[in-house]
Amino acid sequence: MSAAHKLTPAPSPPLPTQGDDPSPELLAHLAAESQRLESATPDEIVAWAHETFAPGLAMGTAFGPEGCLILSLLPRLAPTTYVFNLDTGYQFQQTLDLRDRIAEKYGVEVELLQPELTVPEYEAKHGGPLYQSNPDQCCHDRKIKVLERAAVGRTAWMSGIRRDQSPVRAKQPLVAWDRKFGLVKVSPLANATKQSVWTRLLNEGVPYNPLHDEGYPSVGCWPCTQKADGEGDERAGRWAGKQKTECGLHTVADGGGI
Ligand code: SF4
Repeated sequence: MSAAHKLTPAPSPPLPTQGDDPSPELLAHLAAESQRLESATPDEIVAWAHETFAPGLAMGTAFGPEGCLILSLLPRLAPTTYVFNLDTGYQFQQTLDLRDRIAEKYGVEVELLQPELTVPEYEAKHGGPLYQSNPDQCCHDRKIKVLERAAVGRTAWMSGIRRDQSPVRAKQPLVAWDRKFGLVKVSPLANATKQSVWTRLLNEGVPYNPLHDEGYPSVGCWPCTQKADGEGDERAGRWAGKQKTECGLHTVADGGGI
């Protein structure tokens, strides 16, 4: 297990009041901190995020390999982090079971946050499954709006995205203002590689989704996830046959983000 040196956060300009824009000074500060953290380990970045933003630090996870790795670090490095999952109603049972395996192993309870309408209510309202006819709207209603609710009263959120997962994620800073949700976004694994994450998961016995062993490079909602042959980027198999590659959670960030 990696040891984490403590990186003292630089003094920060104030965060904006909820709903206000960040100051240019804050954006410059976050960009400088992001740059400073480029040579830090994921453990150090998680510890830095806790030192900087707790108790307002949250984390969103879909229980991908990266999320599971960060979850394994929380008890030691960021124990007060509030962790949530956007429980669309369309997740695989294996994903929901993984929540319980993580809780059992690390004592980290991930809260399942549901959309306003259940799946039957939602599909009845739209005359059928919207993931077929309008997946952008479905993601907006069942993920984005739920995260907007989770963001209220928080100062920052962590996610497990990596730059080499797809071209859309290639410029993700380690730390940036997230305009969409009005929070700082910390991505401790942004500059990590797929191999480094998996090596650590396996070496440290971190639970992961068994669907990865069955040929799913990336696991999301079951209607929008397929097996892939390992060619192309890691998001292959998500929204197969459609132009869509992202649900919209990770597509807008300031400070050079995306
Ligand atoms: Fe709906 Fe598919 Fe988006 Fe899940 S990934 S919220 S099922 S469109």
